[in-house]
Amino acid sequence: MAENVLERMSRIGADRKIADFKVKQKENYEFKVNYARIRAWEFYNECAKRDLNVHVSVGGLDSITLLLFLRSIGIDAPGISVSYLEDKSIMAVHKKLGVVSLKPCPFCGREMKFHKDSFVNKYGQTVVHQYYQHEDTEQDCVLDEICMPFTIPAGDANEEIGYIGWCAEKWNKRVEDGESK
Ligand SMILES: [Zn+2]
Repeated sequence: MAENVLERMSRIGADRKIADFKVKQKENYEFKVNYARIRAWEFYNECAKRDLNVHVSVGGLDSITLLLFLRSIGIDAPGISVSYLEDKSIMAVHKKLGVVSLKPCPFCGREMKFHKDSFVNKYGQTVVHQYYQHEDTEQDCVLDEICMPFTIPAGDANEEIGYIGWCAEKWNKRVEDGESK
């Protein structure tokens, strides 16, 4: 039979965890900041040991606070975001913080803009299309001549975790490689 909530709580030692949390919650601000600093460094060092990179998925206020906190304690984790999915005011903050979003087109230098369309198909299902396109499609770019209009698929982009999609990552990688040559 499936485990019920009480059984699960007992298995994971929830009472103990809640009690510990309540103790920490009562501590003062300095204690909490210091505690967070230690845990952040532990996490960072553990990742380094396993040869893994770290990054911060930056969306709204909470994750921006985390990014700034990490920088303040000397952890330089790059912020990653699908900035185009965010409100204009947040986009401006992302830009200031140097959060990674899609690189401009290496051919014409224009920004690539995120688009999200949804429509109902003939089976009554809602279909969502996500892609990036030149911010203004009036001007010509060599990419648009090859494929009109030129789009980068972003079907797997996820605004919750700030993931720009694998095609977009590939695009950024190519632009970076081009820049370093
Ligand atoms: Zn272009």
